[in-house]
Order: sequence, then C-alpha cells, then structure tokens
Amino acid sequence: MSDSRMYLNEGSFKVLIVEDAKIIANALKRDIEKKLGLEVELASTMIEAVNLLEERPDRFFLGLLDLNLPDAQHGEIVDFVIGKDIPVIVFTALFEEEIRTQMLNKKVIDYVLKDSPSTISYLTSLVHRIKNNIHTKTLVVDDSKSSRKHLVDLLRLQRLQVFEAESGVEALALLDKYPDISLVVTDYHMETMDGLELTHNIRKKYSHEDLAIIGVSSYGNNVISAKFIKHGANDFLNKPFLAEEFSCRVSQNLTIVETIRKLADFSIRDALTELHNRRYLMDTGKQLFASATRKQINLGVCLVDIDHFKAVNDTYGHEAGDIVLKYISTILKNNFRKTDIVSRFGGEEFCILWVNMTIERAKENLELLRAKIAAEKIKFGNTTISVTASFGVTLQLEDTLEIMIAKADKKLYEAKNGGRNRVEINYAGQK
Ligand code: GH3
Ligand code: MG
Ligand code: MG
Repeated sequence: MSDSRMYLNEGSFKVLIVEDAKIIANALKRDIEKKLGLEVELASTMIEAVNLLEERPDRFFLGLLDLNLPDAQHGEIVDFVIGKDIPVIVFTALFEEEIRTQMLNKKVIDYVLKDSPSTISYLTSLVHRIKNNIHTKTLVVDDSKSSRKHLVDLLRLQRLQVFEAESGVEALALLDKYPDISLVVTDYHMETMDGLELTHNIRKKYSHEDLAIIGVSSYGNNVISAKFIKHGANDFLNKPFLAEEFSCRVSQNLTIVETIRKLADFSIRDALTELHNRRYLMDTGKQLFASATRKQINLGVCLVDIDHFKAVNDTYGHEAGDIVLKYISTILKNNFRKTDIVSRFGGEEFCILWVNMTIERAKENLELLRAKIAAEKIKFGNTTISVTASFGVTLQLEDTLEIMIAKADKKLYEAKNGGRNRVEINYAGQK
C-alpha cells in the first residue's frame, strides 16, 4: 500500500514561510533558496498568508510557520495551513510542554525552537529531508495491526511513501517488488520469522548502501538491540518511544543511505558532465560484452570526439569549453536509451555502448546525432558557439571489449582524416 496523497504532486515545489520577524524570514528564505534551489514565498501576517493561499495552494509542498503572528497569536495559522493540505513545520520562540503536545497532536511534522543561529540551517536541512522524503520508499514490518499503524502514521507524517507488511515473508516479497525501498522498520517479536531473522535475510541481498534497517521492540533489553545491530540493522529503538526520537532516527538513517549512495555515484561518474566515467564504462561494459557474446546479440561501440575543441578553449576560454562539453554530454545522453552506456572517455572524447540495434538503425541514429550536434547553437554569454564531432563506430563483435574499442578508435581516426564532422562505421563483412 503506498501513500499517494496530493502533496506527491510534482507541481508543488514551493515553500511557504509565515513569519513576522523580517530578519529571520529573509535569512531562512535565502538559506533555502541558496542551498536547496527551491522557491520560497513569504507572508508576515495571517491575513497575508490567507491571501497567498487563496489560489493554487497546492503550489506549496511545505509551510514553515511562526506560532505567534501579530494578527494570530495563538497558532491559528497552523490549522489554516494544514486545512489547505499543506504539511507544516512550526517554529517558535517559546518551548512549553503544553504547546509541544498541542502541536504534535495537530500532526505538524516538527516543532522547532528559534533559540539559536543554527535554527536556520536546521530548518533548511529539515526542508531538504522532507523534499527528499516525498520520493523515498519505506517499509514497516509488524504483525500487530495497531503498532504497525502507529509506525506507518509517523512515517507518513514525515511525507515518506510507506508500504506495510505483517510478516517477514511478506516484507521480502515487497522488497523484491520495490527494490528501491530505502528504509525498513521492523518489529522484533513476530511469528515464523522474527525481526532478527528478517534483518539477516534482507542483508543477504541489500547492503547498507541500498537500504537502512531500524529494529523496534517492546521486549527491549540491550541484548536484543545488540543482536539487531549484529544482524545488520543500522539502529534500534525500544518501545515506547517519543515520536520525535523516532523521526530523528529515521531522518538520520535515510540521510546516511543517501550520502553513501552519492559517494558511490561519485566514483562512477565524471564530475563535469555527470556522464559515467571511463572506469564504469570498462566495468559495466565488460558485463554487457559478455552477455552480448553469450546471447550472440549485436553490440555497438562508438567513440565521439569533438572537432578542433582546442580552438574553442583558445577562442572563448576554458569556461566556455566546459559549457560545450556539458552541452554535448546532454545531447548524447538524450539520444541514447537508458540501458545504453554513455560515458566520458577522456577530455573531449566520449564512448557509447549499446546492445540490440540493427546496423541500419545505428547508421541512421548516428547520422542524425552528428547533424544535431553540428546544428546546435550553444549559448555562452552574449554569443553562441557551434562545434562538430567525429564518430568512430564498430558493430562487429570481437574477442574482447578492448579490441572493439580499438577498432572504433581506428574508425575515428579515419573520420578525422576524412575531413571531420563524419561518421565512420566498421561492420561485419567490411575490411
Ligand atoms: P581534433 O579535431 O583533432 O580532435 O582536435 P582537438 O583540438 O579537438 O583535439 P586536441 O586533442 O588537440 O585537444 C583537445 C583539447 O581538449 C585540449 C584540452 O585542453 C581540452 N580539454 C580536455 N579536457 C577538457 C575539459 O575538461 N575542459 C576544457 N575546457 N577543455 C578540455
Ligand atoms: Mg577533438
Ligand atoms: Mg581528442
């Protein structure tokens, strides 16, 4: 069961801030815009907020609200914004147990004190978390319906997408179906497969880079928490726990998974163009090559080298050269399928690998791509830059991927010698 309420709408991308202290409102707006690239709209009174929300309130995915406004001193703004289906984070100068309970009962995401300069960056990181949560899948495993519901509600409040399973077997099946689940929260005490066994089974297939696991138990003692961690869980909570503690653990663990993924991604991508790098091409390309050889399906290797690129740097500067590289990379990425490998092979040279394309299709596509690059007017300041590229291609399977790349390189050399801005292809039956 997934959560698909209206805030999942891709169109809602703005943040609403309602705060009468201009200095705080502006600092928060700037921080969110600069760090997250999100648009922010400000209101300094309840009435201004009401006006802003009169039309298309669904443009906001989140509201950051000051509890004490000149024209609404008792938190009336909270009910109003929640009534518009916009999730809310509250901030206030006061910490009172009663207000805290009241706010958590109203289902605000979090209750933050404006007591230090770090509040701004804390709020910004919270906005970032919520924005990511909207696209993040989680799974709750608990055989008790009521405690499962409690966990599910807490995760939904953080705007996460939530699946539920009432047994370990069901949980494993859901993970198979949705391998992009980033977090599993599992109870310890369950019939047939307990939380420890489930954790152990999940870790056979999914590493810490794929997903985080949090164990929960009311039979809590330190032995169980240690066992959970040893079986591969990231974290453990004893029931009963505070909603805030649970939310913090969830956020921290999701952020760790995302950071590990980002680092893993850095090592296989080129920083400038964000295309895959040469290492990825060689590693994954070898697998593609092996599978193409085994199944006797055709594999294409294409080298693309920008013509006279040095002249671009010399004429317009290195920065312009970088923009051209990014531009051409985007064109390449958009003109191949998701399953093809498009990589930056060297400075201004790219290597593309694909399977299952006929010679005719490949010829036609590459010719169109060549023409498209030549016709492109790349904006740089007030001028535009045009470049052409040469293509060396082989469509004939060889003994190794390296041999195929060498063949493509030979064809690239011919394309350059033949006057550049050309596609040269080596295919079966041709010398
Ligand atoms: P040809 O048509 O024969 O390929 O000529 P070319 O000028 O494109 O080739 P050459 O190999 O002589 O020059 C490539 C240039 O690419 C030299 C290098 O400074 C530049 N280059 C390599 N990597 C980058 C980069 O990341 N950014 C920029 N701006 N330039 C780069
Ligand atoms: Mg070149
Ligand atoms: Mg070159």
